[in-house]
Amino acid sequence: MSSDDVTAGRVPVVVETPQHARLADVLDYLSERALAPGTLVRVPLGRREVAGIVWQGVAKASTDVPLRPIAQYLDCMPPLPNQWLALLEFAAGYYQRGLGELSLAVLPAELRKLDASQLAQRLKRLHKQLRATVESEPTTAPEEPPLNEEQSAALAAITQASADARPAAPMLLHGVTGSGKTEVYLRATKQSLAQSRQVLMLVPEINLTPQLLGRVTARFPAQRVVAMHSALTPAQRLQTWLLAHLGLADIVLGTRLAVFASMPRLGLIVVDEEHDASYKQQEGARYSARDLAVYRAHLERVPVLLGSATPSLETWQHVLSGRYRRLALDRRIGGAALPRVRVFDMSTLPRPEGPPPALAPALLDALRDRLSRGEQSLVFLNRRGYAPVLHCAACGWKSACAHCSAWRVFHKHDRTLRCHHCGFTERVPRACPECGNLDIQPVGRGTERLEEQLGELLPGARMARFDADATRGKGNLERTLAAVHAGEVDVLVGTQMVTKGHDFRRITLVAAVNPDAALFASDFRAPERQFALLMQAAGRAGRDADATTRSEMWIQTWHPQHALFAALRDHDYARFAASQLEDRRSAGLPPFAHLALLRAEARDAAVATAFLRAAAETAAAMDDSRDVMIYPPVPPSMSRVANIERMQMLVESASRSRLQRFLAAWLPRLHEQRAAHKGLARWAVDIDPQAI
Ligand code: ADP
Ligand code: ZN
Ligand code: ZN
Repeated sequence: MSSDDVTAGRVPVVVETPQHARLADVLDYLSERALAPGTLVRVPLGRREVAGIVWQGVAKASTDVPLRPIAQYLDCMPPLPNQWLALLEFAAGYYQRGLGELSLAVLPAELRKLDASQLAQRLKRLHKQLRATVESEPTTAPEEPPLNEEQSAALAAITQASADARPAAPMLLHGVTGSGKTEVYLRATKQSLAQSRQVLMLVPEINLTPQLLGRVTARFPAQRVVAMHSALTPAQRLQTWLLAHLGLADIVLGTRLAVFASMPRLGLIVVDEEHDASYKQQEGARYSARDLAVYRAHLERVPVLLGSATPSLETWQHVLSGRYRRLALDRRIGGAALPRVRVFDMSTLPRPEGPPPALAPALLDALRDRLSRGEQSLVFLNRRGYAPVLHCAACGWKSACAHCSAWRVFHKHDRTLRCHHCGFTERVPRACPECGNLDIQPVGRGTERLEEQLGELLPGARMARFDADATRGKGNLERTLAAVHAGEVDVLVGTQMVTKGHDFRRITLVAAVNPDAALFASDFRAPERQFALLMQAAGRAGRDADATTRSEMWIQTWHPQHALFAALRDHDYARFAASQLEDRRSAGLPPFAHLALLRAEARDAAVATAFLRAAAETAAAMDDSRDVMIYPPVPPSMSRVANIERMQMLVESASRSRLQRFLAAWLPRLHEQRAAHKGLARWAVDIDPQAI
C-alpha cells in the first residue's frame, strides 16, 4: 500500500452515469479498506451494481446522505496507474465528456462485468496460459539492416530524448514511404525494450495492423506483442488489455483506442501516419488519439515519435515554431527514386458524344506497357460501388436514399442500391420506379465499374479490387494482399484503402483517375487530405530500386495548373504546406485558430436549429464569450442521415485555453436547456473537428 492511498471511510468512486450527467459521475462510497487510487471496484448505483474506479482529488463536498458501502474490491489486480488517471482526467476535460463515462468506456466491456472472484480466476488462467506458451517459443536472432546516415541521426535523437530527465519535445519522423521510418520505429523500440520498458505503437487503420504486427513479431520473437483493435472479440480484448496492464505485453500495437491502454512500464509511443484522419474518433467522445498520444508522452515523460510523409498542418506548424523536432529521412532506402509524376490534362482529349472515358488512351498505353513487362499497376479511385447513382433519362428519377440527403450507390455484383450512410439497401428495380422506363442507367463510376472496364480494355490482365466491399469477408483482405505480393495480380483497382501503408514491391505505375473533387470541396482540410492521399499513393510505386526509373504516377485532371498538383509533381511537401498554412492564417483557420463544433440532431431541422440558436444566445450573455466567435447554425454537407436532420454551429477562438474555459462554462448550461427543446434527438460538441 503506497502513501497515496485514499484512507478508508469516504472514498470517491468514478462510475459511468448516463451521457452528459457530468457532475454526477463521481460518487462517494464507504470503504472498509484503504485503497489506492485506480483500484477497480463494484458499487451499488440505484438498483444496479456497476464497475467503478477509485479516484483521488475529485471528492465532492460531504452531504448528510448516508454512504453506501463498496460492494466488491477488485484489488487482486494492480490499480490503474496514476498517469493513466491523469490522462483520463485530461481527456475528459479537454473533450468535454464525463470522467466516468470516458474512463469506463475505454476499459474492456468484459472487465466492467467481472466481480472480484471472476477476475481472480481470469488472472489465474492468464498466468497459466502464459507459462504454457513461453516454453514453446523459439527465439532465433533476427536480422536487422545497418541504418543509413539519416536513420542513425534520427535514432540518436530519440536515444537522447529518452535519456533526458525533462520531457522531450515530440518528434516528427518525416520521410516518404520507403525511407525507412518503420526501421527507425523498430530500433527505437529495441532500445526501449532493452530498458525493460513497454512500447505503444499506434496505426490509423485496422487493415494496417497485420502488416506491422508481422514485422514487429519477426523482429522481436522473444517479446510479447499484442494487437488492440476493434475486430477483437470481447474476450480477446480483455486478454490483451490485461497483458498490457499487468506489464506482461512488451509491445502494444493498436488503433486509436489503444492510446488508452494501461501500460505501467511505458517507455516510448509511436504514432504511424500521424496525419491520418482515422485517429480522430467520430462519435461519443470525439478524441484525437494522435493528440492524446502527445499529451500522454508528456505526462509520462517518454519520447513520442510521429511518423509521416505528409504531416498534418498542425504538426508541421509545431515543427516550424520549434515546439516539435523534425527528424528527416529525405531519401528512399536503396536509392530508389520517387515516381515521376505526370499530370495529364483531360481537356486535351478529343470530345466525342457521351461521358469522357475512364482512362485517357495514353494512360491505357502506359498500363499495357507494364503488362508487357510483367510489372504491376495500381489504379486509384476514391469511390466504391459500381456507379454512384442510377438515373432514368426519361423522367429524371435518380436513386436517392429515402432517409438521407445522399444517392444510393449501385452495386452490380449483387444488383443492389445501397446507401453508404444509413445502410438502406434494396434490389435494383427492373424499371424506373417513377415512370416505368426499362432503361435506367448507371451514372459515373466507382471502383467496381472501373475494374470491369479495365478488364475489357486490357484483355488477359489479371485484375483485383481492394476496397471496403471487396475486402469485407473474412480473409478476403489477406487473400488479395497475398495475391498482389505473389505477383498474381497485374492491375489492382482500389479506393484510398489501397494507398495506405502497404508495401507493394512490384508496382511501377500508380494512376489517380479522378482526383479533382477534393480541389473544390467546401471542407478546408480537403486539399491537405488529397495531397496526403496522392503522395501516399505515389509512394506505392517503385519501391524496388531496380524498377525505380520506370516508375510513374499519373494524375488525370481537368485542372492541371492547380498548385496542389504542381507541388505533387515536385514531391514538395514543404511548399504545399507553406501555401496551405498561408491560406489558413489569412482565413483564421487551424492551426492558427481553435475550433469546436456544436452539433444538434432532430427529425425536424427547425428543432435542431432552435437549440443551436438558444445556445448562441446563452453564450452571448456570458462573460467568457468575448474570447470566442460563434457562427450561425448551418447544415453539414450530409444534412440528413437515417431520417435525422443535422445542424451544426462553429465556435472559434484564437486561444485554445480560452476556448476551453468558455466551453467548460457554456456546456453545463446547454445540458440544463436541453429539456426545453422537445424533439431534439441529441446534441454533442466536437473539439478540434476534422471536418466542418
Ligand atoms: P517506411 O516505413 O518509411 O515506408 P521501411 O522502414 O518500411 O520504410 O523501409 C522500407 C524498406 O527498406 C523495408 O523493406 C525495410 O526493411 C528496408 N530498410 C529500411 N531501412 C533499411 C536499411 N537501413 N538498410 C536496408 N534496408 C532497409
Ligand atoms: Zn423514369
Ligand atoms: Zn441513407
